Amino acid sequence: MSDKKYIVGNWKMNLNIHEASLLLYKLDSEVNNHYDVEIVLAPPFLSIQTMYLQSDHRKFKLAAQNLYWHDQGAFTGEISASQLRGLVKYALIGHSERRNVFGEKGRDISRKVQAAIRNNIQPILCVGETALERSDGETSDVLHDQIIGGLNNVTSHDMEQVIIAYEPVWAIGSGRSALPADVESAAKTIRQNIKHMFGQSVAKKTPVLYGGSVSPDNAQGFLRADGVDGLLVGGASLDPVKFAKIIESAHNIDSK
Ligand code: PEP
Repeated sequence: MSDKKYIVGNWKMNLNIHEASLLLYKLDSEVNNHYDVEIVLAPPFLSIQTMYLQSDHRKFKLAAQNLYWHDQGAFTGEISASQLRGLVKYALIGHSERRNVFGEKGRDISRKVQAAIRNNIQPILCVGETALERSDGETSDVLHDQIIGGLNNVTSHDMEQVIIAYEPVWAIGSGRSALPADVESAAKTIRQNIKHMFGQSVAKKTPVLYGGSVSPDNAQGFLRADGVDGLLVGGASLDPVKFAKIIESAHNIDSK
């Protein structure tokens, strides 16, 4: 468990540079800066530089939605971790849309995790089962495979940088979120796998977030769930009022 909550907004492939800049401007006036909440924005690559120049770095941290594992070279259309170094503090790795739409596999994801760490970028490794895997009772096996696959070349020392996001695929963008009890159980399974790989103290310290149709109405339920250190928010992060409400629910959650 972490002593602060992470609220990460994934803007996906939405907003041009001007719209992204306007959303950041609106967020800046809606959102209060809290010492106990790490606010992270993951805009499209195109807007990262503008947002880096525009944003209050103490209030908003930036994340990439993806990266490539080679530092440079003949890889047309890719953006490397070394190109992102210094601009973003975090990177989403293995988001379900990357796995399911673009066919990313465990080996790719593990290389991306390593490239992020090598370049001082904290990977937010996304894991989660599909609806079919869930109905077949395979959630724990999927989480096991994705955790082992994503972290297989990471050291215990590197794990200080790693964040895990549990995002059941069926809950993403569907308006059908998981139940806090399901998220608690997934967070437990994730930490058991980390414990087997790196030991109890690493497992305890690794932040685990939940993502999947998070809204201002359900955010607090997840933030109160045992073992949950924050939220990865897609749709609702594009609405400054909703996103600000989610951030407010994370502030002082333990004393609410
Ligand atoms: C996501 O993009 O990771 C996500 C969880 O999306 P949404 O909140 O829209 O379900």
